[in-house]
Amino acid sequence: SAKLAQSAQEKKPTYSFEFFPPKTAQGVQNLYDRMDRMHNFGPSFIDITWGAGGRLSHLTCEMVKVAQSVYGLETCMHLTCTDMPRSKIDDALKEAYNAGCTNILALRGDPPRDKEKWEATRGGFRYAKDLVEYIKDRYGNHFDIGVAGYPEGCDDQDDPDLLLQHLKEKIDAGGTFVVTQMFYDADIFIAWVKKCKDLGINVPIIPGIMPIHTHAAFLRRANWTKCNVPPEWHEALEPVKNDDAAVREVGKSLVAKMCQKLLENGIYHLHFYTMNLAQSTRMVLEELELTPCEESPLTKPLPWRQSLGLN
Ligand code: FAD
Repeated sequence: SAKLAQSAQEKKPTYSFEFFPPKTAQGVQNLYDRMDRMHNFGPSFIDITWGAGGRLSHLTCEMVKVAQSVYGLETCMHLTCTDMPRSKIDDALKEAYNAGCTNILALRGDPPRDKEKWEATRGGFRYAKDLVEYIKDRYGNHFDIGVAGYPEGCDDQDDPDLLLQHLKEKIDAGGTFVVTQMFYDADIFIAWVKKCKDLGINVPIIPGIMPIHTHAAFLRRANWTKCNVPPEWHEALEPVKNDDAAVREVGKSLVAKMCQKLLENGIYHLHFYTMNLAQSTRMVLEELELTPCEESPLTKPLPWRQSLGLN
């Protein structure tokens, strides 16, 4: 969060990428290759999501370890309360700590796949705030602790004022940055950031940006998060909906324009939900002229490239 505050002070745009643990071993290998390539784009950090319970959550820890200690990427590990008694939380935090990871996104978590409603686990935590408090209590200032924010409401709470109060509680408990749910309307996000500030939330607020990969995925995700889609987005995408390449091209312009508006309004860090795909995120970054190039190389050598004699 200190780095984010610095980039805002210097008015220097930065960005980060979210990945999720793939279901197959081949998928994991492909993702490592992709992370490797995306490392060259120069993200400030990457984060790895936490799947509810079981093998995939173990994979989160492993991927954090590889990204942080092999690829030398600053990594943020998501951690949720779903199906997590304290002993499992302790194990996950210890693994992150041992891997040299210093960033946790503390979440309550989605309900497990077989349940519709979220329920607390015996011996676990009820709200993300409780997890923030626990991490702070156990690890002091070792971890930068991020929390989730919802500019347009969330599944089990659509009262925006109540959600803001709960966000404030997470920050007061020790949260040091906020990452938001995806959105497609910059004005809604900008107004929400102002409300956060008015409420005394003074930590960096990072917008969650979902690039457009296909028309079906765009509609599905917008419906799922119930985010507002400006009418001109539908007007631009509808005529090309059956041509994936054209959708990505039009989507790139729309998302880049939205990011441009955020940057013009003092939001200097962009967080991309990559969905484990490089192309659409790269296209947006290129449109914004943010990727490193000959005239504007990466400012610092990347440790893993150095170790391979590439820098
Ligand atoms: P909380 O802040 O704990 O809120 C949960 C609910 O409880 C809300 O309705 C809130 O209003 C209410 N609440 C909070 N405090 C109180 C209180 N004191 N009294 C009464 N009610 C209260 N899910 C995953 O499973 N894995 C992931 O990796 C993951 N990553 C995410 C990343 C981002 C950026 C975002 C935005 C979401 C992510 N999610 C992930 C989804 C998230 O776990 C769900 O949206 C979940 O339903 C809410 O999590 P939270 O951390 O916001 O919960």
